[in-house]
Amino acid sequence: MHFQHPQHPQSTRLGEFDLIQRFFKMHSEQMLAANPGSVTLGIGDDCALLANQANEDMAITSDMLVEGRHFFAGANPEWLGWKALAVNLSDLAAMGAQPLGFTLAIALPSADPHWLERFSKGLFAIANRFSCPLIGGDTTAGPLNICITAFGSTLKKSAIRRSTALDGDDIWVSGYVGDARLTLAALRHEIQLPQIDLDAIKSQMHQPVPRVELGLALRGVAHSAIDVSDGLLGDLRHVLHQSQKDAEILLDQLPKSPTLLKQPLDLQRLYASCGGDDYELCFTAPAHQRTAIENLSTALQLPLTHIGAIKPMKGSEPEMALIDHDGKKLPASATDAFLQSFDHFA
Ligand code: ADP
Ligand code: MG
Repeated sequence: MHFQHPQHPQSTRLGEFDLIQRFFKMHSEQMLAANPGSVTLGIGDDCALLANQANEDMAITSDMLVEGRHFFAGANPEWLGWKALAVNLSDLAAMGAQPLGFTLAIALPSADPHWLERFSKGLFAIANRFSCPLIGGDTTAGPLNICITAFGSTLKKSAIRRSTALDGDDIWVSGYVGDARLTLAALRHEIQLPQIDLDAIKSQMHQPVPRVELGLALRGVAHSAIDVSDGLLGDLRHVLHQSQKDAEILLDQLPKSPTLLKQPLDLQRLYASCGGDDYELCFTAPAHQRTAIENLSTALQLPLTHIGAIKPMKGSEPEMALIDHDGKKLPASATDAFLQSFDHFA
């Protein structure tokens, strides 16, 4: 793509190809030299080439981050670089896919080397952590917009789908839910949060860690999975719809950080059930896998919490019953608030 700097003539010295070379291609080549993985050809030609294996399916996912929509104007570029890839790796994790590489399509208001340096630092920190090299992309001038497409591999017929939850499955969630929403509430001054509390949880919003190792370990263990991006219960509803099942959820068993546990119960429930931006995995598995899942939690040093059960669908639509700490089912009128999930157009 042609790169112009109509609003920033002072920054025209850094051209499109210099920019790609300095902030993207160089780091990508370093990674590939150390470990080419499945990448036959990286940045530089009209297409990248990924080798494919006969016994694998390729998992492909795209996520876009738009300024003013997914992040505040002026957001820390290092966090943005990290998060842009993290949200895609989280989708690969939810399918039990092994990351292979990613492309980056980016629109930049100006070619600012300081901004790019920091963005590239965050991006390659996570790319290296999960051995997922940048293999291509597109660069253009425009309002800040970051779109990543990530490629992964799954063994044929073993990708963990949303549509394959079975009656009697336990429902599990990894890590803690609600901290990203709590951070957002503090940053928006919706609530008062002491700095020490904010510091304890804010990386959950800015630099979430995608559960790639967990997703891989759940191959052959979980019947279904989804990553929690828009809110735990709203995302779980996608699993129920696609699997045509009901569910029972122990609302007060949702795993919460010590910081969220200091908040009033209403707010704990709301943020944990539908806060969004958690990037944990919610998965279902048969009861005979409980010990295996508990052992996995120890091995990965990651809480895995049993939060409910999949039930046969009784009516014509999937239903989710929420049970409180006394074992009482919440009335339908009280559950709506917990089931909302984020919708850009609602
Ligand atoms: P084309 O005109 O064929 O689309 P470009 O000139 O846009 O190619 O890009 C040249 C090379 O640089 C391609 O290999 C492309 O994949 C890569 N590239 C462009 N922008 C990026 C980016 N932001 N990150 C990684 N690679 C990029
Ligand atoms: Mg191009």
